[in-house]
Amino acid sequence: MKNNHSETRLRTPALWLLLWSLLASTSATAQVEPTLDAREREMVNWLQSREGEMLSLLERLTNINSGSLNKAGIDEIATIFADELRQLGFNVSSLPGEVISMPSCPGNNYNVDVADHLLASKAGDSSRLLLMGHMDTVFPPESPFQSFRRQGDIMSGPGVADMKGGMVVMLYALKALQEFNALNELSVSVLLNSDEEMGSLSSRKYLEEQARQHDWGLVYESSGTGNLTRQRKGLGQARVVVNGRASHAGGAHEQGRSAIKELAYKIVEIENMTDYESGVTVNVGLVSGGEARNTVAPCAEAFIDLRYPEPQQGEVAAERFEEIFNQVYSYPVDSGEITAESWVNLHRPPKIPTPESDYLLEKARSIGRLLGQELGVTDSGGGTDGSLTQAVGLPTQDSLGVAGTGAHSNREQARVSSLVERAQLSAVLIQRLAAETP
Ligand SMILES: [Zn+2]
Repeated sequence: MKNNHSETRLRTPALWLLLWSLLASTSATAQVEPTLDAREREMVNWLQSREGEMLSLLERLTNINSGSLNKAGIDEIATIFADELRQLGFNVSSLPGEVISMPSCPGNNYNVDVADHLLASKAGDSSRLLLMGHMDTVFPPESPFQSFRRQGDIMSGPGVADMKGGMVVMLYALKALQEFNALNELSVSVLLNSDEEMGSLSSRKYLEEQARQHDWGLVYESSGTGNLTRQRKGLGQARVVVNGRASHAGGAHEQGRSAIKELAYKIVEIENMTDYESGVTVNVGLVSGGEARNTVAPCAEAFIDLRYPEPQQGEVAAERFEEIFNQVYSYPVDSGEITAESWVNLHRPPKIPTPESDYLLEKARSIGRLLGQELGVTDSGGGTDGSLTQAVGLPTQDSLGVAGTGAHSNREQARVSSLVERAQLSAVLIQRLAAETP
């Protein structure tokens, strides 16, 4: 009883504080944007009549396979955007990709050969906007999911939502600005990377460099059901390769040192790092190893995914990974017969809202209301390049792309009408942000 009383006393002021902060935040964020001016109304109407064009461009892009490792396909997508952006007055250059090396068992190759990225920019007399998208998808050329389909207001295909649809939205917002002579005066860069689906391991440095040279960041990832995302978890990935000693499973079992057995111990330790309460989750998503049923496995490897809400939790998890990778659980530690190679990369910091990014979010929502779009706000466990740019100080709004679901699966689809809606939202948002410095 005593405990309950003191709890109640504590809770009451806390409740008031919560109510007060809710009220305060409501009034702070009830940003009201001026109604659309004549040019904005013209852009909105013009975009309304472009749905057919947007759809045929998206169909063309979707039917080009651009899985992250398909350099030729990604280059083809880059060429289409390079041409379009040049026509809008942008200077276009390509930023070199590179080979990212990761440890692997003999015979496997996890080195990642990243295609070049595309940077287009134009100078102008406004605050500096950085528009971002990724050209790659998770679907390799061998995937059965390859082509664009449309049925009524639903379109499906690899990348319609994640995020070729978003790149079409971005392009048409710029085209609308150009059509009504508003693009000339704007200072805008477009960065389309080719490795987002692998964690932007090569493009990160370009994203961060560009983020430091701009005032506002807009990312055209899919928006799920049509909301805007405010906050995101951080992401990490790790690979561990365990080396043991091969031996005949019958004739000389005792001479073998099973890499699979050792990896199994490590997997349990790794999986046990998941803590739903703190929001940290770890997933051993890929495992392989061994040579034959009757051979003690000389090598085994695992690929691991990490999600974390706070930057510090990422650091702690990365240290714990190293501890687990370096410890030997299955055989005497000092025998030296079991070794491990590993690679750990915290590739996306958490996206933590700032007053500037909240301002940007509310500005987008307020413009949405002017356009008759009620945009909800969600948080996400998935990361985007917006997490990278926001972490180096660029107020960034992501999920400005089409309303879509089922990303990374053959159920990927998006709402056709969101192409025009989102392009209208972006055209007005870009126009108005250009006049403001955070
Ligand atoms: Zn994406």
